[in-house]
Amino acid sequence: MTISSFSTLPLAPALLSNLDSLGYHKMTAIQEQSLPVILERRDLIAQAKTGSGKTAAFGIGILHKLNPTYFAIQALVLCPTRELADQVAKELRRLARSAGNIKVLTLCGGSPMGPQIGSLEHGAHIVVGTPGRIRDHIGRGSINLGTVQTLVLDEADRMVDMGFYEEISGIVSACPARRQTLLFSATYPDDIRKASAEFLRDPVEVKVEAQH
Ligand code: ADP
Ligand code: MG
Repeated sequence: MTISSFSTLPLAPALLSNLDSLGYHKMTAIQEQSLPVILERRDLIAQAKTGSGKTAAFGIGILHKLNPTYFAIQALVLCPTRELADQVAKELRRLARSAGNIKVLTLCGGSPMGPQIGSLEHGAHIVVGTPGRIRDHIGRGSINLGTVQTLVLDEADRMVDMGFYEEISGIVSACPARRQTLLFSATYPDDIRKASAEFLRDPVEVKVEAQH
């Protein structure tokens, strides 16, 4: 299979040159399969192992449709742990360098609520967080997800294994029905099937087997 360059995608020139400066010259297999679907704004279930470049796949999709001049939460990424949320936020900030002043906020458990509420009052374009803490902010009324256009469930199988199904369900209900939902998972057990039936609309499924 030939793996294409990012320039075959209809991305902004500034984003393409930023990818180049990050050393991302060719798409990884999961990026090549998922990005056309993501850029068409379809819902997606993507199955691929760790280290295959899933963050940039959804990150590029988020940035492609983000409006930097609209200072509201346009994308929400749920991750199973604080460490993963921090990694995703770091990658999103690197990808967003070319897009102007994009605010990426992480909201995870284990940090005090007060400063997080203050940050939310200041606003953000993208929120990355763990389900329990995002659910807490919804309960307190400190987060407004009514402007979310892209919802990403990253490492969905791990989130479900950790018992986050109900929290995810509550978070999904707080997002607009008209949104794009992208679900990434290393495995595809029954409860991920259930989650995708419940949270995604007519999703395209892509799967990348272990490579080379
Ligand atoms: P996953 O979420 O699938 O486990 P990551 O998104 O964390 O994988 O990506 C793994 C590594 O690959 C990261 O270090 C990232 O910077 C790098 N990477 C992602 N896409 C590309 C690409 N197209 N070319 C080169 N490196 C990439
Ligand atoms: Mg990942």
